[in-house]
Amino acid sequence: MRRALIVTIDGPAGAGKSSIARALATHMNYVLVDTGALYRTVALAAMRGCLNLVEQSEQVSTLASELATQRAIQLVPDAAAGGVRVELRGEDVSLAIRTPEIALGASVVSAYPGVRDALLSLQRQAGEHGGVVLEGRDIGTVVFPHADVKFFLTASAEERARRRHDELVATGSDASYADTLRDVQERDDRDIRRTVAPLRQAIDARLIDSTGRTLQEVIAQMMSIVEARATVPPPAC
Ligand code: C5P
Repeated sequence: MRRALIVTIDGPAGAGKSSIARALATHMNYVLVDTGALYRTVALAAMRGCLNLVEQSEQVSTLASELATQRAIQLVPDAAAGGVRVELRGEDVSLAIRTPEIALGASVVSAYPGVRDALLSLQRQAGEHGGVVLEGRDIGTVVFPHADVKFFLTASAEERARRRHDELVATGSDASYADTLRDVQERDDRDIRRTVAPLRQAIDARLIDSTGRTLQEVIAQMMSIVEARATVPPPAC
């Protein structure tokens, strides 16, 4: 018999959380919840509504709360889209939220308590029944402090920026490595310093450093930890 666990993966930008969470979810036949996509979609909606993300924190928070109440942001299982498709009011925005501008915008709006509050119950509902892998910054500390398995995934800033830069170049972007490194450091800094739900390792999370290791090695290590936890031993007779 196997248990339907709540697995959380937190860590800084570019640590490999998305690819690893997707591989784990597929292997375990679990649902994948990319919580960063929710913050990115709020940033996209706010930018489309011509809000100034830095100066109009109250309006951004009100918008986030309206979007959550109206269930206007949805993570829809979609194998063709690599696991999950992100929808904003029914529109597929999976690609639109993957730009460097939206990444920085998400990092600004995610520091607002009103935005975090609005997205909290959405994340909890998505994971409450177990059989789920959630990735983000505060999942093991705030969203699911009692999760079954918690990971804190990290790597050096230079390696994370190099991976992010490779991904951007593969999608046709002409972003420079230096700009990507600066963006990654800026986002990390904001995530670590914010007062509400800052990025930090939960006390009971396993620290996994992927610097100098292949994704496959890291996935294999994390899979064996999750497998061991999910396998229920037969009753002693
Ligand atoms: O993970 P991703 O890079 O897509 O996240 C975008 C931004 O959303 C992050 O830089 C972070 O500021 C924010 N975020 C957050 N809490 C989460 C997930 C993402 O603050 N659980």
